[in-house]
Amino acid sequence: MKCDIKVKKILSCGHTLEKKCYEQFNCIEICDKLNSNCLFRHLCKKPCGVNCGLCTYPIPIIMKCGHISELSCSQEPNTVECLECKEGNQIPPMSTAKKL
Ligand SMILES: [Zn+2]
Ligand SMILES: [Zn+2]
Ligand SMILES: [Zn+2]
Ligand SMILES: [Zn+2]
Repeated sequence: MKCDIKVKKILSCGHTLEKKCYEQFNCIEICDKLNSNCLFRHLCKKPCGVNCGLCTYPIPIIMKCGHISELSCSQEPNTVECLECKEGNQIPPMSTAKKL
């Protein structure tokens, strides 16, 4: 029989976790720390324990074409393709029109 006693442990990240004592204590919380790689000090929404890395906070921007696109905080706006334009280019307008 496995030990059934629950233990509370404060992890190195500062989160507290309650688990059975034989289970692994991997933090399952959201990081929620200020991302030191982000100029705008967004909160990191990656799982705790994962390297914060580049900020992935979604920011809406207006593209050159006029569409509004969302990009990650760390992305350069001019390296991002407009998703709406991209989709529009892939589907020729005639193929979606119903034949009368
Ligand atoms: Zn944690
Ligand atoms: Zn950011
Ligand atoms: Zn993080
Ligand atoms: Zn566009």
